[in-house]
Amino acid sequence: LSLTEMKELAKARPHEPFMKYKGNNPWDYPPNDEVIAIKKKIRLDLTTSQKVCGFCGLRLKGTSQGQIEHIAPKAYYRHPEFTFTLKNLVLACHYCNSPDKKGTKDTISIKHTIYSKCKFNIVHPYLDDPEEHYDWTDKEIELLIQVKNDSPQGKKSIEIFGLDNPNMSELRAGEIRHSQLKAKYALLPADEFLLEAALSK
Ligand SMILES: [Zn+2]
Repeated sequence: LSLTEMKELAKARPHEPFMKYKGNNPWDYPPNDEVIAIKKKIRLDLTTSQKVCGFCGLRLKGTSQGQIEHIAPKAYYRHPEFTFTLKNLVLACHYCNSPDKKGTKDTISIKHTIYSKCKFNIVHPYLDDPEEHYDWTDKEIELLIQVKNDSPQGKKSIEIFGLDNPNMSELRAGEIRHSQLKAKYALLPADEFLLEAALSK
């Protein structure tokens, strides 16, 4: 989405009109051709530029192609005015996207009318550097995530998305093995396919 298009969107859908819908954010309801077209374009844009989940870093593939997730929730009682803000939209894997994870929990601790000036209580996929908030324990089988420098945002993200659960750690370790093997052997697409199949078992 170009900057001009985003500006047009922001103009077309300022804060006030969102509020009159109360429970319904125009992103979801009522069905609207313009919004459907916008969402399609955003999805295409994100899938082109983003290969990993914005929250856990796992590769987006297969059944986990990625859902468009609002980093600051779009619920009318949260931050509906950021519904179409590009920096607020990220692809998330099906683990991080499940309603029991972030859901409509508030992710902004100090709000500002300018999105990038808000303070977030999680590690923001675009505004934060994960290296400042996470530490890794490199083990042969698992790659364990830890909070770095007592970062409250790192702590909150690990807690909300369950980044330290054994399943996530195992998946991350698999991906690391995958990329190490890939780098070592310069795989052909056919080998790549076999390796992918073997590691996803
Ligand atoms: Zn994820």
